Amino acid sequence: MSGSNPQLITARSDTTEKISRQCLQLPPACPAGGFYLPIQALSRAATGLLSLHPDIPAPTLTVPNTPFIETLQSLLGPEFVKTGQTTSTWSNDQRGNYSGEALAVVFPADTNQVSALVKLCRQHRIAIVPQGGNTSLCGASVPLAESEMPQLVINLSRMNRIREVDAVNYTMTVEAGCTLGNIRDIALHHNRLFPLSLSAIDSRCEIGGNLSTNAGGANVLRYGNTRELVLGLEVVLPDGRIWNGLRSLRKDNTGYDMKHLFIGAEGTLGIITAAVIKLYPLPLARTTAIVALNSPATAVSLLSHLRATCGDRINAFEIVSRTCLDLVLKHYPDCFEPFNQKHQWLIITELGDIVDAPLNKILNDAILSFPEGVIEYQISKNNLQAEHWWNLRKNISDAQKLEGKSIKHDIAVPVSRVPQLIEQSDAALQQAFPGIRIVAFGHIGDGNIHYNASMPDAVANAELFANSESVNRIVYDIVHQLSGTISAEHGLGQLKRDEIRRYKAPLELALMKQIKDTFDPLGLMNPGKVL
Ligand SMILES: Cc1cc2nc3c(=O)[nH]c(=O)nc-3n(C[C@H](O)[C@H](O)[C@H](O)COP(=O)(O)OP(=O)(O)OC[C@H]3O[C@@H](n4cnc5c(N)ncnc54)[C@H](O)[C@@H]3O)c2cc1C
Repeated sequence: MSGSNPQLITARSDTTEKISRQCLQLPPACPAGGFYLPIQALSRAATGLLSLHPDIPAPTLTVPNTPFIETLQSLLGPEFVKTGQTTSTWSNDQRGNYSGEALAVVFPADTNQVSALVKLCRQHRIAIVPQGGNTSLCGASVPLAESEMPQLVINLSRMNRIREVDAVNYTMTVEAGCTLGNIRDIALHHNRLFPLSLSAIDSRCEIGGNLSTNAGGANVLRYGNTRELVLGLEVVLPDGRIWNGLRSLRKDNTGYDMKHLFIGAEGTLGIITAAVIKLYPLPLARTTAIVALNSPATAVSLLSHLRATCGDRINAFEIVSRTCLDLVLKHYPDCFEPFNQKHQWLIITELGDIVDAPLNKILNDAILSFPEGVIEYQISKNNLQAEHWWNLRKNISDAQKLEGKSIKHDIAVPVSRVPQLIEQSDAALQQAFPGIRIVAFGHIGDGNIHYNASMPDAVANAELFANSESVNRIVYDIVHQLSGTISAEHGLGQLKRDEIRRYKAPLELALMKQIKDTFDPLGLMNPGKVL
């Protein structure tokens, strides 16, 4: 907006709107001074109009200046309202798969400002896209490319205060925009652990986003998903009212537990502004093992054996296939083969204890007493070695990206059925698409596999992508037959919104819709995502 003549833009916008409404045979502007037009339609009409008036420079804005934007600016301060091309950072997803057009991106400083913004959107019938670190892997955090309503991105990053640390109660009250990395650091400073851990920490994911996606990660096996790490929430509802549910109680049996509706809702029921999260004692001892074995079936049996012998000390239990390792070794020269021989399947597992227990011995004894199927293994001698093994796992996603595009599936089945999932999907895909390359890895301890498909050759890969729907159908049908889920931890967003209708029971979908309509009858909260 800066440097433009506001009057000219306003006048041009008015004319543009009138002409575009006539051309597109749309109803007149809404009485509140807002607009009902899809922004794409408006910008297309604007381009047409301006070609008739060569003296008027081409528009740099794809949205008209409106009293709405001015109200946003006076509410938050102009520097916290981005419009036009400056919104692109927040309108595109980090994988480059989704891109939408935002009327504006705004950065509120506190809960009252969020409430005022939501009330304003409701008054003008503007859709709201809540946003944290914008690391969503399913297009949940960016505006839609085609939208019935103009869309406002409300980014929570400025709301990054730690409101309270209660080390005795093992809780922390945090605002939605606190990064996960910062929360973990503050907990550490108080000699406590906040156990949620995902690679998106480096991309500055935020607790509001973690809560809204019910994020998983590497430590779910021991500590649970984000849902299990929360005691209370503060939420701005779709009508602007503020629900203060910031309780730090371990027990509260007073009816429906409202917070769980907002956790995992991907911003479709309200905007989470703060949370009371659980802290844990800091583990003093930690050890890692890397285990070569012959199949996922052996991996699942080993996990079962470790649970029986090591109890709840298992922090993580991750599987890496040969294909994954080859890609990492190809693209990361610092990474090297962990054993002298190449193996088809590796497990990387970590034990932790709050007392200084002899974990190396405990883990060694446990693996030694495992009946059969382990080919060889190592227990970490130092942190550096453990870190190298974990980097083999952490670098898989980026190594795949460097190799080219792949069709990704974030799926889960009961842990005991993971071997069937991998065997059946591999066989069915090989039959349908001979030569297909499967990259299977992830949180096998939670039954959650990242199962990605591509062709090594670029032309064949493009053909495979043209058949994405058939690939998805094969994988998701097998997941469904095994009583699994087509989204284990990333959510539905735009990516799986249509797909879920095929696999969730109609009654469950109808109940979800009823909940949505109760909270958000105008459908303003993150439309086009989830439902
Ligand atoms: C490299 C990488 C690794 C990843 N690894 C994992 C992993 O191991 N496990 C996992 O679960 N995910 C993983 N993800 C996905 C992603 O990081 C998570 O979904 C994360 O929780 C999103 O947090 P965010 O702050 O970036 O939220 P965003 O991406 O900004 O938003 C995600 C969703 O939450 C909504 N939202 C955001 N903030 C709020 C709020 N305050 N109130 C209401 N709704 C809100 C958005 O509208 C959107 O629907 C990974 C992503 C990357 C890029």
